Amino acid sequence: MIRRFFGYYKPHRRLFVVDFTSALIVALLELAFPIAVQEFIDRLLPKENWNLIILVSIGLLFVYILSTFLQYVVTYLGHKLGVNIETDMRQDLFFHVQRQSFRFFDNTKTGHIMSRITNDLFDIGELAHHGPEDFFIAIMTFVGAFWIMFYQNAQLAWIILIAVPVLIFLIAYSNIKMNKAWHSMYHDIAEVNARVEDAVSGVRVVQSFTNEKFEMERFTKDNYSFRKAKIGAYKVMAFVHSNIYMMMRLIVLIVLVVGAWLTYTDRLSTGELVGFVLYVNVLFKPIEKISALLELYPKGMAGFKRFTDLLDVEPDVVNHENAREVTSLKGDITFEDVTFGYEKTQGSVLNELDLTINAGETVAFVGPSGAGKTTICSLIPRFYDVDGGSIKIDGLDVREMTKESLRHQIGIVQQDVFLFTGSLKENIAYGRLDASDEEIEEAARKAHMVEFIKELPDGYETQVGERGLKLSGGQKQRIAIARMFLKNPPILILDEATSALDTETETIIQKALSELAKERTTLIIAHRLATIKNADRIMVVTKEGIEEEGSHEELLKRDGIFAHLHKVQMR
Ligand code: ADP
Ligand code: MG
Repeated sequence: MIRRFFGYYKPHRRLFVVDFTSALIVALLELAFPIAVQEFIDRLLPKENWNLIILVSIGLLFVYILSTFLQYVVTYLGHKLGVNIETDMRQDLFFHVQRQSFRFFDNTKTGHIMSRITNDLFDIGELAHHGPEDFFIAIMTFVGAFWIMFYQNAQLAWIILIAVPVLIFLIAYSNIKMNKAWHSMYHDIAEVNARVEDAVSGVRVVQSFTNEKFEMERFTKDNYSFRKAKIGAYKVMAFVHSNIYMMMRLIVLIVLVVGAWLTYTDRLSTGELVGFVLYVNVLFKPIEKISALLELYPKGMAGFKRFTDLLDVEPDVVNHENAREVTSLKGDITFEDVTFGYEKTQGSVLNELDLTINAGETVAFVGPSGAGKTTICSLIPRFYDVDGGSIKIDGLDVREMTKESLRHQIGIVQQDVFLFTGSLKENIAYGRLDASDEEIEEAARKAHMVEFIKELPDGYETQVGERGLKLSGGQKQRIAIARMFLKNPPILILDEATSALDTETETIIQKALSELAKERTTLIIAHRLATIKNADRIMVVTKEGIEEEGSHEELLKRDGIFAHLHKVQMR
Protein backbone atom coordinates (compact mmCIF):
# COMPACT_ATOMS: atom_id res chain seq x y z
CA MET A 1 0.00 0.00 0.00
CA ILE A 2 2.78 2.45 0.97
CA ARG A 3 4.65 1.43 -2.18
CA ARG A 4 1.61 2.17 -4.24
CA PHE A 5 1.24 5.51 -2.47
CA PHE A 6 4.79 6.48 -3.29
CA GLY A 7 4.20 5.42 -6.87
CA TYR A 8 2.22 8.64 -7.23
CA TYR A 9 5.35 10.69 -6.44
CA LYS A 10 7.21 9.33 -9.42
CA PRO A 11 6.05 11.81 -12.06
CA HIS A 12 6.82 14.65 -9.63
CA ARG A 13 10.25 13.53 -8.48
CA ARG A 14 11.96 16.84 -9.23
CA LEU A 15 9.37 18.85 -7.38
CA PHE A 16 9.75 16.54 -4.43
CA VAL A 17 13.55 16.83 -4.39
CA VAL A 18 13.52 20.64 -4.51
CA ASP A 19 10.84 20.81 -1.84
CA PHE A 20 12.58 18.29 0.38
CA THR A 21 16.00 19.89 0.07
CA SER A 22 14.62 23.32 0.90
CA ALA A 23 12.83 21.92 3.94
CA LEU A 24 16.05 20.25 5.02
CA ILE A 25 18.02 23.50 4.82
CA VAL A 26 15.33 25.35 6.79
CA ALA A 27 15.55 22.67 9.47
CA LEU A 28 19.36 22.89 9.62
CA LEU A 29 19.19 26.68 9.97
CA GLU A 30 16.73 26.31 12.80
CA LEU A 31 19.01 23.85 14.47
CA ALA A 32 21.89 26.33 14.25
CA PHE A 33 19.93 29.31 15.52
CA PRO A 34 20.16 28.62 19.30
CA ILE A 35 23.95 28.25 19.02
CA ALA A 36 24.09 31.66 17.36
CA VAL A 37 22.06 33.24 20.19
CA GLN A 38 24.20 31.54 22.80
CA GLU A 39 27.44 32.75 21.21
CA PHE A 40 25.90 36.19 20.87
CA ILE A 41 25.18 36.40 24.62
CA ASP A 42 28.25 34.67 25.97
CA ARG A 43 30.98 35.93 23.63
CA LEU A 44 29.79 38.97 21.74
CA LEU A 45 28.01 40.93 24.50
CA PRO A 46 30.97 41.04 26.94
CA LYS A 47 33.20 42.54 24.21
CA GLU A 48 30.94 45.62 23.95
CA ASN A 49 32.02 46.04 20.33
CA TRP A 50 29.08 47.67 18.50
CA ASN A 51 30.57 47.38 15.04
CA LEU A 52 30.93 43.66 15.43
CA ILE A 53 27.39 43.33 16.80
CA ILE A 54 26.00 45.19 13.77
CA LEU A 55 28.09 43.08 11.43
CA VAL A 56 26.88 39.85 13.00
CA SER A 57 23.30 41.13 12.95
CA ILE A 58 23.53 41.88 9.24
CA GLY A 59 24.87 38.38 8.72
CA LEU A 60 21.93 36.98 10.68
CA LEU A 61 19.55 39.10 8.63
CA PHE A 62 20.77 37.44 5.44
CA VAL A 63 20.36 34.04 6.96
CA TYR A 64 16.78 34.97 7.91
CA ILE A 65 16.04 36.18 4.39
CA LEU A 66 17.36 32.94 2.97
CA SER A 67 15.35 30.94 5.46
CA THR A 68 12.19 32.95 4.68
CA PHE A 69 12.64 32.39 0.97
CA LEU A 70 13.10 28.69 1.52
CA GLN A 71 10.00 28.63 3.74
CA TYR A 72 8.11 30.13 0.84
CA VAL A 73 9.48 27.51 -1.50
CA VAL A 74 8.55 24.73 0.90
CA THR A 75 5.00 25.98 1.43
CA TYR A 76 4.37 26.65 -2.23
CA LEU A 77 6.10 23.70 -3.87
CA GLY A 78 5.05 21.31 -1.11
CA HIS A 79 1.40 22.10 -1.63
CA LYS A 80 1.89 22.09 -5.37
CA LEU A 81 3.21 18.55 -5.02
CA GLY A 82 0.17 17.59 -2.95
CA VAL A 83 -2.22 19.12 -5.47
CA ASN A 84 -0.46 17.39 -8.36
CA ILE A 85 -0.74 14.03 -6.69
CA GLU A 86 -4.36 14.66 -5.76
CA THR A 87 -5.11 15.60 -9.39
CA ASP A 88 -3.44 12.47 -10.73
CA MET A 89 -5.44 10.34 -8.36
CA ARG A 90 -8.67 12.08 -9.32
CA GLN A 91 -7.87 11.40 -12.98
CA ASP A 92 -7.23 7.74 -12.24
CA LEU A 93 -10.45 7.43 -10.30
CA PHE A 94 -12.64 9.13 -12.89
CA PHE A 95 -11.12 7.15 -15.74
CA HIS A 96 -11.56 3.98 -13.77
CA VAL A 97 -15.20 4.70 -12.96
CA GLN A 98 -15.86 5.42 -16.64
CA ARG A 99 -14.57 1.96 -17.47
CA GLN A 100 -16.84 0.17 -15.02
CA SER A 101 -19.68 -1.95 -16.25
CA PHE A 102 -23.36 -1.66 -15.39
CA ARG A 103 -23.20 -4.06 -12.48
CA PHE A 104 -20.81 -1.73 -10.66
CA PHE A 105 -23.27 1.16 -10.89
CA ASP A 106 -26.13 -1.10 -9.84
CA ASN A 107 -24.26 -1.70 -6.60
CA THR A 108 -22.48 1.60 -5.90
CA LYS A 109 -24.06 4.74 -4.55
CA THR A 110 -23.12 7.85 -6.48
CA GLY A 111 -22.69 9.70 -3.17
CA HIS A 112 -19.96 7.29 -2.17
CA ILE A 113 -18.04 7.88 -5.37
CA MET A 114 -18.43 11.61 -4.78
CA SER A 115 -16.98 11.26 -1.27
CA ARG A 116 -13.95 9.47 -2.70
CA ILE A 117 -13.40 12.18 -5.28
CA THR A 118 -13.78 15.08 -2.84
CA ASN A 119 -13.04 14.36 0.83
CA ASP A 120 -10.78 11.36 0.57
CA LEU A 121 -8.62 12.80 -2.13
CA PHE A 122 -8.20 16.02 -0.19
CA ASP A 123 -6.88 14.13 2.83
CA ILE A 124 -4.62 12.05 0.67
CA GLY A 125 -3.25 15.19 -0.96
CA GLU A 126 -2.48 16.68 2.46
CA LEU A 127 -0.71 13.52 3.52
CA ALA A 128 1.18 13.31 0.26
CA HIS A 129 2.50 16.79 0.84
CA HIS A 130 3.20 16.72 4.58
CA GLY A 131 3.89 13.05 5.01
CA PRO A 132 7.41 12.16 3.94
CA GLU A 133 8.75 15.69 4.22
CA ASP A 134 7.61 16.30 7.77
CA PHE A 135 8.47 12.81 8.86
CA PHE A 136 12.12 12.79 7.81
CA ILE A 137 12.76 16.35 8.76
CA ALA A 138 11.11 15.94 12.13
CA ILE A 139 13.25 12.92 12.93
CA MET A 140 16.37 14.70 11.77
CA THR A 141 15.67 17.83 13.80
CA PHE A 142 14.76 15.74 16.79
CA VAL A 143 17.95 13.70 16.75
CA GLY A 144 20.06 16.74 15.90
CA ALA A 145 18.65 18.84 18.73
CA PHE A 146 19.15 16.01 21.21
CA TRP A 147 22.68 15.46 20.18
CA ILE A 148 23.57 19.14 20.60
CA MET A 149 21.78 19.30 23.94
CA PHE A 150 23.77 16.41 25.31
CA TYR A 151 26.90 18.01 24.07
CA GLN A 152 25.96 21.28 25.78
CA ASN A 153 24.76 20.00 29.12
CA ALA A 154 24.15 16.36 29.85
CA GLN A 155 22.29 16.93 33.12
CA LEU A 156 19.62 19.10 31.51
CA ALA A 157 19.46 16.81 28.52
CA TRP A 158 18.63 13.90 30.82
CA ILE A 159 15.57 15.71 32.10
CA ILE A 160 14.38 16.05 28.53
CA LEU A 161 15.25 12.48 27.67
CA ILE A 162 13.03 11.26 30.49
CA ALA A 163 10.18 13.64 29.72
CA VAL A 164 10.03 13.06 25.98
CA PRO A 165 8.92 9.41 26.05
CA VAL A 166 6.09 10.40 28.38
CA LEU A 167 5.13 13.03 25.85
CA ILE A 168 5.33 10.58 22.97
CA PHE A 169 3.31 7.99 24.86
CA LEU A 170 0.67 10.61 25.59
CA ILE A 171 0.51 11.51 21.91
CA ALA A 172 0.40 7.92 20.72
CA TYR A 173 -2.37 7.07 23.16
CA SER A 174 -4.43 10.07 22.16
CA ASN A 175 -3.90 9.14 18.60
CA ILE A 176 -5.74 5.86 18.95
CA LYS A 177 -8.68 7.81 20.31
CA MET A 178 -8.46 10.31 17.47
CA ASN A 179 -8.53 7.59 14.85
CA LYS A 180 -11.71 6.16 16.18
CA ALA A 181 -13.29 9.59 16.17
CA TRP A 182 -12.23 10.33 12.59
CA HIS A 183 -13.38 6.96 11.42
CA SER A 184 -16.95 7.39 12.56
CA MET A 185 -16.93 10.90 11.15
CA TYR A 186 -15.95 9.68 7.70
CA HIS A 187 -18.51 6.97 7.77
CA ASP A 188 -21.20 9.51 8.60
CA ILE A 189 -20.27 12.09 5.97
CA ALA A 190 -20.45 9.42 3.29
CA GLU A 191 -23.98 8.66 4.44
CA VAL A 192 -24.92 12.33 4.38
CA ASN A 193 -23.57 12.69 0.83
CA ALA A 194 -25.48 9.65 -0.32
CA ARG A 195 -28.69 11.07 1.14
CA VAL A 196 -28.20 14.42 -0.57
CA GLU A 197 -27.53 12.67 -3.85
CA ASP A 198 -30.65 10.54 -3.49
CA ALA A 199 -32.92 13.36 -2.46
CA VAL A 200 -31.70 15.71 -5.18
CA SER A 201 -31.79 13.30 -8.08
CA GLY A 202 -35.06 11.89 -6.82
CA VAL A 203 -36.58 15.25 -5.93
CA ARG A 204 -39.45 14.88 -8.38
CA VAL A 205 -40.48 11.63 -6.79
CA VAL A 206 -40.07 13.11 -3.33
CA GLN A 207 -42.30 16.06 -4.15
CA SER A 208 -44.92 14.11 -6.04
CA PHE A 209 -45.40 11.97 -2.96
CA THR A 210 -45.12 15.11 -0.80
CA ASN A 211 -42.52 13.26 1.20
CA GLU A 212 -40.36 16.34 1.77
CA LYS A 213 -40.88 16.17 5.49
CA PHE A 214 -39.89 12.53 5.57
CA GLU A 215 -36.74 13.28 3.57
CA MET A 216 -35.90 16.21 5.81
CA GLU A 217 -36.26 14.11 8.90
CA ARG A 218 -34.18 11.35 7.43
CA PHE A 219 -31.53 13.83 6.36
CA THR A 220 -31.59 15.61 9.72
CA LYS A 221 -30.95 12.33 11.47
CA ASP A 222 -27.91 11.56 9.34
CA ASN A 223 -26.69 15.13 9.36
CA TYR A 224 -26.87 15.30 13.15
CA SER A 225 -25.20 11.98 13.47
CA PHE A 226 -22.36 13.41 11.40
CA ARG A 227 -22.36 16.55 13.54
CA LYS A 228 -22.07 14.47 16.67
CA ALA A 229 -19.22 12.46 15.23
CA LYS A 230 -17.37 15.52 14.02
CA ILE A 231 -17.79 17.46 17.25
CA GLY A 232 -16.72 14.35 19.11
CA ALA A 233 -13.60 14.18 16.98
CA TYR A 234 -12.79 17.82 17.65
CA LYS A 235 -13.36 17.37 21.36
CA VAL A 236 -10.85 14.56 21.44
CA MET A 237 -8.52 16.71 19.38
CA ALA A 238 -8.83 19.67 21.76
CA PHE A 239 -8.19 17.43 24.74
CA VAL A 240 -5.16 15.91 23.13
CA HIS A 241 -3.69 19.21 22.01
CA SER A 242 -4.15 20.96 25.34
CA ASN A 243 -2.59 18.07 27.21
CA ILE A 244 0.38 18.07 24.92
CA TYR A 245 0.69 21.83 25.29
CA MET A 246 0.60 21.57 29.07
CA MET A 247 3.22 18.85 29.07
CA MET A 248 5.52 20.95 26.92
CA ARG A 249 5.27 24.04 29.13
CA LEU A 250 5.96 21.85 32.12
CA ILE A 251 9.15 20.59 30.56
CA VAL A 252 10.31 24.17 29.85
CA LEU A 253 9.54 25.14 33.43
CA ILE A 254 11.55 22.27 34.86
CA VAL A 255 14.48 23.08 32.56
CA LEU A 256 14.31 26.70 33.70
CA VAL A 257 14.37 25.83 37.40
CA VAL A 258 17.13 23.25 37.13
CA GLY A 259 19.00 25.51 34.71
CA ALA A 260 18.77 28.42 37.16
CA TRP A 261 20.27 26.28 39.89
CA LEU A 262 23.08 25.16 37.54
CA THR A 263 23.77 28.78 36.62
CA TYR A 264 23.98 29.86 40.29
CA THR A 265 26.42 27.08 40.98
CA ASP A 266 28.47 28.23 37.97
CA ARG A 267 28.07 25.07 35.98
CA LEU A 268 26.18 26.82 33.17
CA SER A 269 26.53 30.23 31.53
CA THR A 270 23.53 32.51 30.91
CA GLY A 271 23.98 32.08 27.16
CA GLU A 272 24.02 28.33 27.52
CA LEU A 273 20.79 28.39 29.54
CA VAL A 274 19.08 30.59 26.94
CA GLY A 275 20.44 28.37 24.17
CA PHE A 276 19.18 25.29 25.98
CA VAL A 277 15.67 26.65 26.47
CA LEU A 278 15.64 27.55 22.79
CA TYR A 279 16.66 23.99 21.95
CA VAL A 280 13.81 22.62 24.00
CA ASN A 281 11.54 24.63 21.72
CA VAL A 282 13.38 23.40 18.64
CA LEU A 283 12.77 19.90 19.93
CA PHE A 284 9.05 20.50 20.39
CA LYS A 285 8.58 21.37 16.75
CA PRO A 286 9.28 17.89 15.42
CA ILE A 287 7.20 16.40 18.21
CA GLU A 288 4.30 18.60 17.19
CA LYS A 289 4.87 17.75 13.57
CA ILE A 290 4.96 14.05 14.26
CA SER A 291 1.83 14.26 16.36
CA ALA A 292 0.10 16.14 13.54
CA LEU A 293 1.35 13.48 11.20
CA LEU A 294 -0.02 10.78 13.44
CA GLU A 295 -3.39 12.41 12.86
CA LEU A 296 -2.91 12.97 9.17
CA TYR A 297 -1.43 9.59 8.41
CA PRO A 298 -4.33 7.32 9.37
CA LYS A 299 -6.81 9.76 7.88
CA GLY A 300 -4.95 9.96 4.60
CA MET A 301 -4.19 6.26 4.50
CA ALA A 302 -7.79 5.33 5.28
CA GLY A 303 -8.79 7.56 2.38
CA PHE A 304 -6.11 6.01 0.23
CA LYS A 305 -7.36 2.54 1.09
CA ARG A 306 -10.92 3.46 0.09
CA PHE A 307 -9.45 5.01 -3.04
CA THR A 308 -7.47 1.91 -3.99
CA ASP A 309 -10.39 -0.36 -3.08
CA LEU A 310 -12.45 1.48 -5.65
CA LEU A 311 -9.57 1.48 -8.11
CA ASP A 312 -9.17 -2.28 -7.72
CA VAL A 313 -12.71 -3.12 -8.71
CA GLU A 314 -12.23 -4.79 -12.05
CA PRO A 315 -15.02 -4.19 -14.56
CA ASP A 316 -16.83 -7.51 -15.04
CA VAL A 317 -17.38 -6.96 -18.74
CA VAL A 318 -13.97 -6.78 -20.40
CA ASN A 319 -12.41 -7.33 -23.77
CA HIS A 320 -11.06 -10.83 -24.12
CA GLU A 321 -7.55 -11.37 -25.29
CA ASN A 322 -8.31 -12.20 -28.90
CA ALA A 323 -11.37 -10.02 -29.16
CA ARG A 324 -12.07 -8.79 -32.67
CA GLU A 325 -12.92 -5.33 -33.89
CA VAL A 326 -16.19 -5.62 -35.78
CA THR A 327 -17.40 -3.21 -38.41
CA SER A 328 -20.68 -3.02 -40.29
CA LEU A 329 -22.46 -6.02 -38.84
CA LYS A 330 -25.45 -7.28 -40.77
CA GLY A 331 -27.51 -7.86 -37.68
CA ASP A 332 -28.43 -11.54 -37.44
CA ILE A 333 -28.91 -12.05 -33.73
CA THR A 334 -29.21 -15.42 -32.03
CA PHE A 335 -29.58 -16.33 -28.38
CA GLU A 336 -28.61 -19.93 -27.65
CA ASP A 337 -29.57 -21.35 -24.27
CA VAL A 338 -29.00 -18.00 -22.65
CA THR A 339 -29.18 -18.01 -18.88
CA PHE A 340 -28.68 -14.82 -16.95
CA GLY A 341 -29.27 -13.35 -13.49
CA TYR A 342 -28.28 -10.01 -12.00
CA GLU A 343 -27.25 -11.28 -8.59
CA LYS A 344 -26.25 -14.80 -7.65
CA THR A 345 -28.58 -14.56 -4.67
CA GLN A 346 -31.62 -13.58 -6.73
CA GLY A 347 -31.79 -16.47 -9.16
CA SER A 348 -31.89 -16.06 -12.91
CA VAL A 349 -34.06 -13.75 -14.95
CA LEU A 350 -33.55 -15.61 -18.22
CA ASN A 351 -33.44 -19.41 -18.37
CA GLU A 352 -32.03 -21.21 -21.38
CA LEU A 353 -33.55 -18.71 -23.74
CA ASP A 354 -33.39 -19.35 -27.48
CA LEU A 355 -34.09 -16.60 -29.91
CA THR A 356 -33.38 -15.79 -33.53
CA ILE A 357 -33.66 -12.42 -35.17
CA ASN A 358 -32.81 -12.02 -38.83
CA ALA A 359 -30.89 -9.11 -40.22
CA GLY A 360 -33.17 -6.24 -41.19
CA GLU A 361 -36.12 -7.63 -39.28
CA THR A 362 -38.23 -5.62 -36.86
CA VAL A 363 -39.05 -7.69 -33.82
CA ALA A 364 -41.26 -6.53 -31.01
CA PHE A 365 -41.18 -7.74 -27.43
CA VAL A 366 -44.28 -7.46 -25.33
CA GLY A 367 -45.31 -8.86 -22.01
CA PRO A 368 -45.75 -8.03 -18.35
CA SER A 369 -43.21 -5.73 -16.77
CA GLY A 370 -40.42 -7.49 -14.97
CA ALA A 371 -40.54 -10.35 -17.45
CA GLY A 372 -37.05 -9.63 -18.74
CA LYS A 373 -37.53 -7.63 -21.95
CA THR A 374 -35.03 -4.93 -21.04
CA THR A 375 -32.69 -7.59 -19.76
CA ILE A 376 -32.70 -9.38 -23.13
CA CYS A 377 -31.78 -6.12 -24.83
CA SER A 378 -29.05 -5.25 -22.30
CA LEU A 379 -27.24 -8.48 -23.04
CA ILE A 380 -26.79 -7.77 -26.74
CA PRO A 381 -24.42 -4.80 -26.29
CA ARG A 382 -22.81 -6.67 -23.36
CA PHE A 383 -23.91 -4.32 -20.63
CA TYR A 384 -23.84 -7.60 -18.75
CA ASP A 385 -22.35 -10.92 -19.79
CA VAL A 386 -24.49 -14.04 -19.90
CA ASP A 387 -24.04 -16.68 -17.19
CA GLY A 388 -24.68 -19.55 -19.58
CA GLY A 389 -25.20 -20.10 -23.30
CA SER A 390 -24.21 -17.50 -25.84
CA ILE A 391 -25.37 -14.56 -27.90
CA LYS A 392 -24.13 -14.34 -31.44
CA ILE A 393 -24.34 -11.59 -33.99
CA ASP A 394 -23.70 -12.64 -37.59
CA GLY A 395 -22.57 -15.96 -36.14
CA LEU A 396 -19.89 -14.48 -33.88
CA ASP A 397 -20.17 -14.59 -30.09
CA VAL A 398 -20.46 -11.06 -28.72
CA ARG A 399 -17.77 -11.92 -26.17
CA GLU A 400 -15.35 -12.39 -29.02
CA MET A 401 -15.85 -8.83 -30.19
CA THR A 402 -14.33 -5.78 -28.54
CA LYS A 403 -16.86 -4.08 -26.34
CA GLU A 404 -16.36 -0.74 -28.06
CA SER A 405 -16.71 -1.95 -31.63
CA LEU A 406 -19.78 -4.00 -30.67
CA ARG A 407 -21.47 -1.03 -29.05
CA HIS A 408 -20.69 1.08 -32.10
CA GLN A 409 -23.00 -1.23 -34.00
CA ILE A 410 -25.93 -0.92 -31.63
CA GLY A 411 -28.14 2.07 -30.91
CA ILE A 412 -30.48 2.27 -27.95
CA VAL A 413 -33.38 4.65 -27.40
CA GLN A 414 -34.97 4.41 -24.01
CA GLN A 415 -37.89 5.98 -22.26
CA ASP A 416 -35.67 8.33 -20.24
CA VAL A 417 -33.37 10.43 -22.35
CA PHE A 418 -30.38 11.81 -20.55
CA LEU A 419 -29.39 15.31 -21.60
CA PHE A 420 -25.94 16.61 -20.76
CA THR A 421 -25.38 20.17 -19.67
CA GLY A 422 -24.62 22.03 -22.89
CA SER A 423 -26.28 23.17 -26.07
CA LEU A 424 -28.94 21.32 -28.03
CA LYS A 425 -26.41 20.87 -30.81
CA GLU A 426 -23.87 19.30 -28.48
CA ASN A 427 -26.55 16.97 -27.18
CA ILE A 428 -27.43 15.77 -30.65
CA ALA A 429 -23.76 15.45 -31.58
CA TYR A 430 -23.34 13.07 -28.64
CA GLY A 431 -24.48 10.44 -31.12
CA ARG A 432 -21.27 10.95 -33.10
CA LEU A 433 -18.82 13.42 -31.66
CA ASP A 434 -17.16 14.30 -34.97
CA ALA A 435 -20.39 15.06 -36.82
CA SER A 436 -20.38 18.25 -38.91
CA ASP A 437 -23.01 20.98 -38.52
CA GLU A 438 -24.67 19.84 -41.74
CA GLU A 439 -24.89 16.27 -40.50
CA ILE A 440 -26.36 17.42 -37.21
CA GLU A 441 -29.01 19.48 -38.99
CA GLU A 442 -29.76 16.58 -41.31
CA ALA A 443 -30.24 14.29 -38.30
CA ALA A 444 -32.48 16.83 -36.62
CA ARG A 445 -34.57 17.08 -39.75
CA LYS A 446 -35.00 13.32 -39.95
CA ALA A 447 -35.96 13.26 -36.29
CA HIS A 448 -38.69 15.85 -36.96
CA MET A 449 -37.04 18.38 -34.70
CA VAL A 450 -36.76 21.33 -37.04
CA GLU A 451 -40.16 22.80 -36.16
CA PHE A 452 -39.53 23.06 -32.48
CA ILE A 453 -35.89 24.10 -32.83
CA LYS A 454 -37.06 27.10 -34.86
CA GLU A 455 -39.16 28.23 -31.95
CA LEU A 456 -36.27 28.06 -29.46
CA PRO A 457 -34.65 31.38 -28.51
CA ASP A 458 -31.13 30.38 -29.58
CA GLY A 459 -31.97 27.55 -31.97
CA TYR A 460 -29.31 24.87 -31.95
CA GLU A 461 -27.27 26.81 -29.40
CA THR A 462 -30.03 26.75 -26.78
CA GLN A 463 -28.72 25.43 -23.49
CA VAL A 464 -30.47 22.28 -22.35
CA GLY A 465 -29.93 19.72 -19.62
CA GLU A 466 -29.46 20.28 -15.93
CA ARG A 467 -28.96 24.03 -16.15
CA GLY A 468 -30.79 24.89 -19.35
CA LEU A 469 -34.16 24.92 -21.00
CA LYS A 470 -36.48 22.18 -19.91
CA LEU A 471 -37.66 20.07 -22.80
CA SER A 472 -40.77 17.95 -22.96
CA GLY A 473 -40.58 14.17 -23.07
CA GLY A 474 -41.37 14.15 -26.80
CA GLN A 475 -38.69 16.74 -27.55
CA LYS A 476 -36.08 14.83 -25.57
CA GLN A 477 -37.11 11.67 -27.36
CA ARG A 478 -36.47 13.35 -30.68
CA ILE A 479 -32.98 14.33 -29.54
CA ALA A 480 -32.37 10.66 -28.79
CA ILE A 481 -33.59 9.74 -32.26
CA ALA A 482 -31.42 12.39 -33.91
CA ARG A 483 -28.44 10.95 -32.02
CA MET A 484 -29.27 7.59 -33.57
CA PHE A 485 -29.41 9.01 -37.08
CA LEU A 486 -25.90 10.31 -36.49
CA LYS A 487 -24.67 7.09 -34.98
CA ASN A 488 -26.33 5.11 -37.76
CA PRO A 489 -25.98 1.64 -36.23
CA PRO A 490 -27.12 -1.51 -38.05
CA ILE A 491 -28.86 -2.74 -34.91
CA LEU A 492 -31.43 -0.63 -33.12
CA ILE A 493 -33.10 -1.17 -29.77
CA LEU A 494 -36.15 0.87 -28.82
CA ASP A 495 -36.98 0.22 -25.19
CA GLU A 496 -40.36 1.75 -24.41
CA ALA A 497 -39.18 4.78 -26.36
CA THR A 498 -42.67 6.16 -26.79
CA SER A 499 -44.39 4.73 -23.75
CA ALA A 500 -44.40 7.96 -21.79
CA LEU A 501 -45.72 10.14 -24.60
CA ASP A 502 -49.24 11.27 -25.36
CA THR A 503 -50.78 9.80 -28.50
CA GLU A 504 -50.40 12.95 -30.56
CA THR A 505 -46.68 13.30 -29.89
CA GLU A 506 -46.31 9.58 -30.26
CA THR A 507 -47.59 9.75 -33.83
CA ILE A 508 -44.83 12.18 -34.84
CA ILE A 509 -42.21 10.17 -33.02
CA GLN A 510 -43.48 6.93 -34.54
CA LYS A 511 -42.90 8.44 -37.94
CA ALA A 512 -39.35 9.37 -37.06
CA LEU A 513 -38.77 5.96 -35.52
CA SER A 514 -40.00 4.00 -38.53
CA GLU A 515 -37.71 6.08 -40.67
CA LEU A 516 -34.90 5.22 -38.31
CA ALA A 517 -35.76 1.52 -38.28
CA LYS A 518 -35.53 1.24 -42.05
CA GLU A 519 -32.85 -1.18 -43.19
CA ARG A 520 -31.79 -1.97 -39.66
CA THR A 521 -32.35 -4.90 -37.38
CA THR A 522 -34.75 -3.41 -34.90
CA LEU A 523 -35.85 -4.64 -31.50
CA ILE A 524 -38.84 -2.79 -30.10
CA ILE A 525 -40.07 -3.13 -26.58
CA ALA A 526 -43.49 -1.63 -26.42
CA HIS A 527 -46.18 -1.27 -23.96
CA ARG A 528 -48.91 -0.09 -26.29
CA LEU A 529 -49.67 -2.86 -28.72
CA ALA A 530 -50.93 -0.47 -31.36
CA THR A 531 -47.38 0.79 -31.87
CA ILE A 532 -46.04 -2.58 -32.92
CA LYS A 533 -48.71 -3.56 -35.37
CA ASN A 534 -46.29 -3.41 -38.27
CA ALA A 535 -43.50 -5.41 -36.67
CA ASP A 536 -42.37 -8.43 -38.70
CA ARG A 537 -42.62 -10.59 -35.65
CA ILE A 538 -43.89 -10.19 -32.13
CA MET A 539 -42.58 -12.16 -29.18
CA VAL A 540 -44.51 -12.43 -25.97
CA VAL A 541 -42.08 -12.54 -23.08
CA THR A 542 -43.13 -13.76 -19.65
CA LYS A 543 -41.21 -15.02 -16.66
CA GLU A 544 -41.30 -18.47 -18.29
CA GLY A 545 -39.51 -17.24 -21.39
CA ILE A 546 -40.87 -16.56 -24.86
CA GLU A 547 -44.36 -17.97 -24.81
CA GLU A 548 -45.77 -16.85 -28.12
CA GLU A 549 -44.25 -15.75 -31.37
CA GLY A 550 -45.67 -14.63 -34.66
CA SER A 551 -47.09 -11.72 -36.61
CA HIS A 552 -49.78 -9.48 -35.19
CA GLU A 553 -52.50 -11.32 -37.04
CA GLU A 554 -51.18 -14.78 -36.29
CA LEU A 555 -51.07 -14.03 -32.61
CA LEU A 556 -54.59 -12.62 -32.59
CA LYS A 557 -55.83 -15.72 -34.32
CA ARG A 558 -54.08 -17.89 -31.81
CA ASP A 559 -56.22 -16.39 -29.08
CA GLY A 560 -53.51 -16.72 -26.40
CA ILE A 561 -51.78 -14.25 -24.10
CA PHE A 562 -51.26 -11.67 -26.82
CA ALA A 563 -54.88 -11.77 -27.91
CA HIS A 564 -55.90 -11.35 -24.30
CA LEU A 565 -53.58 -8.34 -23.78
CA HIS A 566 -54.89 -6.87 -27.01
CA LYS A 567 -58.49 -7.20 -25.91
CA VAL A 568 -57.75 -5.50 -22.58
CA GLN A 569 -56.01 -2.56 -24.29
CA MET A 570 -58.69 -2.11 -26.94
CA ARG A 571 -61.39 -1.76 -24.39
P1 ADP B 1 -38.95 -5.72 -18.25
O1 ADP B 1 -38.11 -4.86 -19.11
O2 ADP B 1 -39.59 -6.87 -18.98
O3 ADP B 1 -39.99 -4.95 -17.51
P2 ADP B 1 -36.51 -6.18 -16.81
O4 ADP B 1 -35.68 -6.86 -17.82
O5 ADP B 1 -36.26 -4.76 -16.57
O6 ADP B 1 -38.05 -6.41 -17.14
O7 ADP B 1 -36.37 -6.96 -15.43
C1 ADP B 1 -36.40 -8.36 -15.29
C2 ADP B 1 -36.10 -8.75 -13.87
O8 ADP B 1 -34.77 -8.39 -13.53
C3 ADP B 1 -36.98 -8.05 -12.86
O9 ADP B 1 -37.32 -8.98 -11.87
C4 ADP B 1 -36.11 -6.97 -12.29
O10 ADP B 1 -36.42 -6.76 -10.95
C5 ADP B 1 -34.72 -7.54 -12.43
N1 ADP B 1 -33.74 -6.48 -12.70
C6 ADP B 1 -33.76 -5.59 -13.71
N2 ADP B 1 -32.67 -4.79 -13.69
C7 ADP B 1 -31.94 -5.17 -12.62
C8 ADP B 1 -30.70 -4.74 -12.05
N3 ADP B 1 -30.00 -3.73 -12.59
N4 ADP B 1 -30.25 -5.35 -10.95
C9 ADP B 1 -30.94 -6.36 -10.40
N5 ADP B 1 -32.11 -6.82 -10.88
C10 ADP B 1 -32.62 -6.25 -11.98
MG1 MG C 1 -38.15 -2.79 -19.31
